[in-house]
Amino acid sequence: MTSDVRIRVGHLYPDYLNIYADRGNIAVFERRALLRGHELAVESIGLGDELRPGAYDLLYIGGGQDREQALVAADLRTKSDAVHAAAADGAAVLAVCGGYQLLGRGYHDLRGFDLPGIGLFPHETVAGEQRMIGDVLLECELEPGERHTLAGFENHAGRTRLDSGAEPLGRVVAGFGNDGESGYEGCRVGRAIGTYLHGPLLPRNPWLADWLLSQALAHASGGDAVALETLPDALEARAHEVSARRARERGGRY
Ligand code: GLN
Repeated sequence: MTSDVRIRVGHLYPDYLNIYADRGNIAVFERRALLRGHELAVESIGLGDELRPGAYDLLYIGGGQDREQALVAADLRTKSDAVHAAAADGAAVLAVCGGYQLLGRGYHDLRGFDLPGIGLFPHETVAGEQRMIGDVLLECELEPGERHTLAGFENHAGRTRLDSGAEPLGRVVAGFGNDGESGYEGCRVGRAIGTYLHGPLLPRNPWLADWLLSQALAHASGGDAVALETLPDALEARAHEVSARRARERGGRY
């Protein structure tokens, strides 16, 4: 893998969708890119800002309550073609919770309002009365034969139903996941990942941070995604184990 690549990140609505320290995911991308000799150039994309499809190697959108989602949903729809074009061109995407919902076909919120989404992910979401809250543990296999666990924290009213044939991010070992019924969580479309897992997600799941960085590097360099050299992730592994244990103690739901 070459070094000294400038990885361009577009951070959507950081002032609105930043619940449960989701901004920490950006800090993890920055640190893990730097430790491999690369630069992470992060640009905020807010209300009314243009999203230039070819300008980013990774797009990131965090989570937020219904109110914040309603404040950005209409603007996000004006960016729909650009987000689709960026993903189709091979940029990586990470969408968390409220952002994950709005990158689907839409979110029918707790107040009964419909927030149309952009349909990047093949799903739709309807809020239910009981919030789905607690530690979550998933089993994932983004690359054939490469199985990992993903640990995080969920807090959502939304029940996300994946279309038939859609690829989930992982199987729920403990927690609610997309809807508390299907046994699956999140969604994956190519280099785009959507999930309910907060925490923030990446400090306790370095493998996913590196998988997304390798996708973004491939886009930046025009090559194929290759595994990044490993880092001494002892603290990250400890954080993962603490989170995974809490989820298991919560009780397997499937
Ligand atoms: N407001 C959405 C819900 O309650 C998303 C919440 C979040 O981003 N944590 O489902």
